[in-house]
Amino acid sequence: MFTLIGNVFKNLRSKYATRLYPYEVRESFAGSRGKLEIDPDICIYCGICAKRCPANAIAVTRKPDKTWTLDPYRCIVCSYCIDVCPKKCLHMNAKHRSPE
Ligand code: SF4
Ligand code: SF4
Repeated sequence: MFTLIGNVFKNLRSKYATRLYPYEVRESFAGSRGKLEIDPDICIYCGICAKRCPANAIAVTRKPDKTWTLDPYRCIVCSYCIDVCPKKCLHMNAKHRSPE
């Protein structure tokens, strides 16, 4: 009983054991992956990323409209599409969302 009360007071006086997320956001580690994003101004809609994606997560159309879409539930975040894109318009955004 006394040990328990001692632990309660000790924990009340000590610092938090975890970060106060979302108020304290940790920076991502170097090289960590996140969400695949595209720069549509650079994309030429060649479809190479869609053909090479092992999870079939990307769809590219040229006609009637030029579209590039990603199914985030299929993507396994392997970054292969980034490597094969000839225009280098794909990248990973590893940042956590900041509190609104
Ligand atoms: S490989 Fe690159 S340029 Fe080609 S469609 Fe995909 S994102 Fe666009
Ligand atoms: S990161 Fe991998 S799984 Fe996700 S869209 Fe690119 S190639 Fe496909």
